[in-house]
Amino acid sequence: MEGALTARDRVGMQDLVLLDAHTSETAVLDNLRKRFHENLIYTYIGTLLVSVNPYKELDLFSKKHMDTYMGVNFFELPPHIYALADNVFRTMLSEFNNHFILISGESGAGKTEASKKVLQFYAVSCPSTQLLDNVRDRLLLSNPVLEAFGNAKTLKNDNSSRFGKYMDIQFDHQGGAVGGHILSYLLEKSRVVHQNHGERNFHIFYQLVAGGEDNLLRWLGLERNCQKYSYLVQGECAKVTSINDKSDWKTVRNALSVIDFSEKDVEHLFAIMASVLHLGNVKFDTDTLGYAVLNNNPQIHWLSKLLGIPAQVLQQGLTHKKIEAKMEEVYSPFAVEHAVYARDALAKAIYGRTFNWLVNKVNESLANKDSSRKTVIGLLDIYGFEVFHVNSFEQFCINYCNEKLQQLFIQLTLKSEQEEYQIEGIEWEPVPYFNNKIICDLVEEKYRGIISILDEECLRPGDATDLTFLAKLEEKMGGHPHFVTHKLADQKTRKSLQRGNFRLLHYAGEVTYCVVGFLDKNNDLLYRNVKEVMRQSNNAIIQNCFPSTEPESKKRPETVVTQFKGSLGGLTDVLLCKEPWYIRCIKPNDSKQPGRLDDVLVRHQVKYLGLMEHLRVRRAGFAYRRKYEIFLERYKPLCPDTWPKWKGTPSEGVLCLIKHLGYKPDEYKMGRTKIFIRHPKTLFATEDAFEV
Ligand code: ATP
Ligand code: MG
Repeated sequence: MEGALTARDRVGMQDLVLLDAHTSETAVLDNLRKRFHENLIYTYIGTLLVSVNPYKELDLFSKKHMDTYMGVNFFELPPHIYALADNVFRTMLSEFNNHFILISGESGAGKTEASKKVLQFYAVSCPSTQLLDNVRDRLLLSNPVLEAFGNAKTLKNDNSSRFGKYMDIQFDHQGGAVGGHILSYLLEKSRVVHQNHGERNFHIFYQLVAGGEDNLLRWLGLERNCQKYSYLVQGECAKVTSINDKSDWKTVRNALSVIDFSEKDVEHLFAIMASVLHLGNVKFDTDTLGYAVLNNNPQIHWLSKLLGIPAQVLQQGLTHKKIEAKMEEVYSPFAVEHAVYARDALAKAIYGRTFNWLVNKVNESLANKDSSRKTVIGLLDIYGFEVFHVNSFEQFCINYCNEKLQQLFIQLTLKSEQEEYQIEGIEWEPVPYFNNKIICDLVEEKYRGIISILDEECLRPGDATDLTFLAKLEEKMGGHPHFVTHKLADQKTRKSLQRGNFRLLHYAGEVTYCVVGFLDKNNDLLYRNVKEVMRQSNNAIIQNCFPSTEPESKKRPETVVTQFKGSLGGLTDVLLCKEPWYIRCIKPNDSKQPGRLDDVLVRHQVKYLGLMEHLRVRRAGFAYRRKYEIFLERYKPLCPDTWPKWKGTPSEGVLCLIKHLGYKPDEYKMGRTKIFIRHPKTLFATEDAFEV
């Protein structure tokens, strides 16, 4: 009937693989848009899940929904994050191997919400005992704690994760969640001392000030007014309508006790948070010679009380630098500007180290003491690609991380999948894709990459500055197709590039970085005597964060970016030996509005999330593959010739089995060591045959 829409026209395809053969970006976008406007936020590409942030609560996540999706095959129900979570879980149990779910997307796309939904699904649906309930509660409650200390309101997201998080959930043979482990990556410490307009510091400070009990605040010397604290007011938005700091405080306090924080731990933790706020209010006067002095500063007394460090020692530490000269220790006074720098560096160090302590503490409480073999599902919720009006060192690190993850996706999926067809001798038309290795190399190659050059400038004594770093980059990178600066650019590009900037052509798009602060942030220096001052503290957490055994060798500590590079390398190694699953999150608009999908914005994300490449590989390829031995072992009861024991080779056994099951010739291919199955539903039908 003309004019009438079929259901399919209205809601689009639930799997993009089912769209017409020559699917364009536009068709993918149209399909996602149709579904979005019907509140269908999930769409598959094979087993990859695309999720569009609805920016409103949908009735999709109840216990009833979890039950519905449990044990059900992918295509029998509308796409859902629970279907993916359940599939990962069941594959892990049947194959007894390790998996990870990579959740990607830009800031505000819904990664953290997605990771929480997966965790909740496991917590509710896994087999349980009283002992395991305890583990489950801790796994769930680690979230509000880490979010309080590691998330903040930014211009893009009211609850933006300012650290990367990888969480392993460990399961026993029966599928019970028995433990967990969290790795955290590069917390954005600079936020402790500075926030851009419209942004906030980490949530915990506002929670403490709004929700902390009267006697606690009195003990900490805090007023119930964020405006009093210079570290909390720079963004001029201490109050956010979508956030209830007071009730979040209660959640966090309760969570801390469930995950084994003693009252003493909690006391020490908040003494530190209050100290950071007092530190931010320390103001320096100038003496007659222009040096920084501290006159009758009430903050020093609070710091002294809360950290258990004599006021004199603190005062000295904040206004002087210790120089060791010929067996003698000399204290040289700071200019005010220097003192402010040292104060902020201390605040950042205290917060950053306390955050690491917190992650360790959470890990202790999630640790599984039983040494029997376990399998894991890893959840990776890491900052997405970021482009601001002005991009600095932090964005450089975050975007480098995204290049690495794209490289992982290429290695694990695009490249390995295609190589596998070749190795297995399956006829195959290669799918072209852009390999971003060239950009990874540009950033991280030994001796020649941007990181090496930055470190070289950071370690070079003398006149190294952000601008000499830029000049070195220009000298070494000139002509690289993914690197450009004002000086290197052609006339047309030059107009859009200021002198103190460099631009990288990332796989996801261009980003222009301003070099100001690169050296400083990468060095992340904390004066040695400040560390010594901290060591005198009687606060157990500070003692742990500033151990007296910290190597004070003459060798410089690793720079921030080099540490980050190391931890990303470690993460890649951990992930490469697990089976990958993907959730790609899409942000529908820039104004956090429900019901609005901005085409330009979404099209860009479709592009850089690699959806088209994934779609092409999926469409051309085979959704499932299994080693002959594993396939035969699992399904041999379905055929009288293979049950209970097949006497020939596994591949002959599989052939006999699938003939018996009635597989059609175009549904499968026999490789050298594996059977390849084109559509998931073929395999599901086989699974279902067990139940008949
Ligand atoms: P960042 O990289 O900044 O950490 P993110 O991708 O983790 O961003 P989230 O914090 O998960 O983004 O989501 C941002 C906001 O979008 C949430 O606070 C919530 O308001 C909304 N949102 C995300 N996913 C959903 C969902 N499935 N249902 C309802 N609202 C959602
Ligand atoms: Mg997040």
